[in-house]
Amino acid sequence: MKYQSVIGLEIHAEMLTNSKVFCTCSAEFGGAENSRVCPRCSGLPGTLPVFNRGAAYLAARAGFALECTVNNYSAFDRKNYFYPDLPKAYQITQFTYPICTDGKINVGGRDIRINRIHIEEDAGKLVHDDYEGISMADYNRCGVPLIEIVTEPDIRTAEEARDFVEQIALRLKYAGVCDSRMEQGSLRVDVNISLMPYGSDVFGTRAEIKNLNSLKSIVRAIEYETERQSEILDRGGEVVQETRRYNDNRGMTNSLRSKEEAHDYRYFPEPDIPPVFLSDAEIAEIRNSMPEMPGKRLERYTNEYGLREEDARLLISDKSLSDFYDETVRIYPSYKPVANLVLVELLRLLNESEASADNLKFTPDALARTVKMADEGRISKNAAKDILKILFSSGGDPVYTAGERGFIMSDDEDDLAEIIDKVISENKDSVESYKAGNQKVFGFLMGQVVREAGKSANPKLAKDLLMKKIREVR
Ligand code: ADP
Ligand code: MG
Ligand code: ZN
Repeated sequence: MKYQSVIGLEIHAEMLTNSKVFCTCSAEFGGAENSRVCPRCSGLPGTLPVFNRGAAYLAARAGFALECTVNNYSAFDRKNYFYPDLPKAYQITQFTYPICTDGKINVGGRDIRINRIHIEEDAGKLVHDDYEGISMADYNRCGVPLIEIVTEPDIRTAEEARDFVEQIALRLKYAGVCDSRMEQGSLRVDVNISLMPYGSDVFGTRAEIKNLNSLKSIVRAIEYETERQSEILDRGGEVVQETRRYNDNRGMTNSLRSKEEAHDYRYFPEPDIPPVFLSDAEIAEIRNSMPEMPGKRLERYTNEYGLREEDARLLISDKSLSDFYDETVRIYPSYKPVANLVLVELLRLLNESEASADNLKFTPDALARTVKMADEGRISKNAAKDILKILFSSGGDPVYTAGERGFIMSDDEDDLAEIIDKVISENKDSVESYKAGNQKVFGFLMGQVVREAGKSANPKLAKDLLMKKIREVR
């Protein structure tokens, strides 16, 4: 490859307000077609928009999450274009005065600058395949508040683009701005990409690939487009500035419209909505209410708690699981044992049942007490897993459960000695074989002891005693 790719992204994220941005219709995803529309969001003449200030607060949170400046003053403009999913024939957006500017995010050691974040309204959805030859319009999504995040052309590879989007998605989730469900379209990415010869600092002509809705398709679209543009440049051609669409089934991009057909949006200030003014006090309050961002949390988990980086990453990738972990170790700071139980056992249970960690049947306190019992040697590690399973399916008190199920390990040597004597006398051959040097047999004998003694056997004690007793055999 002789060329360096230069990539800038425009990311649309639906914000988690209850109602839409200029009316009181529900902004929730889904719903029966056109059940969440009113005269305002369906663009009937004579209606007036009223700005939902909650959208400004969430956009400001996005600004802090992405290390931007949050501006006191922002304002709306009209972006005029005609398309059937936009019944007003213009979109209300922030063009001249965006709410946030000048951010940056570090991805794998490189800073990717964010030019701006602005608020706008989403358009509706066209459904093309329900009836032959007919397209239907669903306006439920019209007027759902979006932020658009525009980066500088600082990204250089497909992987960097993917990592950047992944990080944006996670930060927005942590900030409570967007649920970042790419598969539901709540986060959508436009990729701008151009090539230049290595060593050059003059950017080439870019193509824009619209509406990518998975990390995988972002990577594949960039790879395809890099290939396509380098072939053009190799044979001395020129890349034309155009908008392209990525077809996931075919793994290719194709042209939607060229620069000549590009829209003239005839932006002008939206006359029906006053500018948005956020006072210094409001901005400070929003800043102070920001939660810890995933990067900070990762540092805390690895540096302070000593978790392995891959474990820490897995944990922070699910905010509610990570919050549950945090609450548990706040009660009982046994960082690694709690992390092990959460990442191995709890995550498996959650995946199997497709449940989420934000409505579990047990509390962080119950998990804390379970781990504590195991740490103190009152129950075995396996018993801790079994208790977690019970807590997960039916809740309850871990200490009571441990007692009821006979998980409390007995330190009674006499009981154990009796069992071990029995195992030794029933497995004379194995004992001899072990004494003759076959180390592996010990595991088998241990297994027999544990099977006889049940979960209440203290494994450490049983092991010591078994060794001792075998040594005594003559
Ligand atoms: P427009 O207003 O025409 O959409 P912008 O300057 O706002 O153009 O850029 C839109 C996006 O395209 C931004 O994410 C920006 O980083 C990216 N971009 C601009 N120039 C290039 C280029 N030469 N190669 C790749 N991306 C670019
Ligand atoms: Mg653009
Ligand atoms: Zn409405």
